[in-house]
Amino acid sequence: MATRNITLGAHVSAAGGVQNAPVNAREIGAGAFALFTRNQRRWQAPPYNDDTVASYHTAMEENGFSRKNVLPHAGYLINLGSPDEAVREKSIGGLADEFGRTITLGLGLLNFHPGTSKGTLDEDATCRRIAAGIDEVLRTVQDNREEPALLVLENTAGQGNNMGATFEQLARIIDASSFPERLAVCVDTCHAFAAGFDIRDRTGWDSLMNDLERIVGLDRLAGIHLNDSLGELGSRKDRHRHIGEGEIGLEGFRAVMQDTRLDGLPLVLETPESERWEEEIRLLLSLAG
Ligand SMILES: [Zn+2]
Ligand SMILES: [Zn+2]
Repeated sequence: MATRNITLGAHVSAAGGVQNAPVNAREIGAGAFALFTRNQRRWQAPPYNDDTVASYHTAMEENGFSRKNVLPHAGYLINLGSPDEAVREKSIGGLADEFGRTITLGLGLLNFHPGTSKGTLDEDATCRRIAAGIDEVLRTVQDNREEPALLVLENTAGQGNNMGATFEQLARIIDASSFPERLAVCVDTCHAFAAGFDIRDRTGWDSLMNDLERIVGLDRLAGIHLNDSLGELGSRKDRHRHIGEGEIGLEGFRAVMQDTRLDGLPLVLETPESERWEEEIRLLLSLAG
């Protein structure tokens, strides 16, 4: 049997500075992690100073992480589809700032929620509005590295008309962008289940992956958020539970963990209690067999 390369971790705290995130990840036995590049509940944040950036690079190296292992998560205020022009402008500025930080930290991915027009526009127009916002970010922020960073669209539970509950919506946004080569996707298991993908067993998980391959392309898959779901199938509720303690259950996560197509991608827990992540990582690794 070929050896697996499972890189699994959690969305760890960056309290006290981003340089603490790799340390926090290592402490729970993680091989991958997510972090917020700045305070996720505010529009403004001071830029990094040089010491912070240098300490971050040192911490990455000392704790054995590389660029591929990190999937930063953009702030929750960002809504590129907002019908409020001021909010949309702040969202474009905020995402651009976070994308710049991602690049400054030497990272290659920034995950964000596509957004919603709150029912003011139809689906197609909403996707085009979001794509136009993405294009503004990519025109504003330069990345001259050989492999420039990607913006990663996360699937959603579909609550509040949020785009991304179907892979068709994600594909529509990518198709409407002038920079499709700079876009990738992340699948959150809780969001997928709440959006109606029955991933409680291998057949269901394979069916999701087949849809993803057909509609978006597996080469665009940049990471997975591993969360069980409080809400039922199709409930459209974005409420995370610990692995095996929600409506998806262990068999679903066994299928995810045994899927070799995910090897090398950051697999990131976003379950409620950080004290349990170390144990949860061990559980998931045991499901991989
Ligand atoms: Zn998210
Ligand atoms: Zn969620």
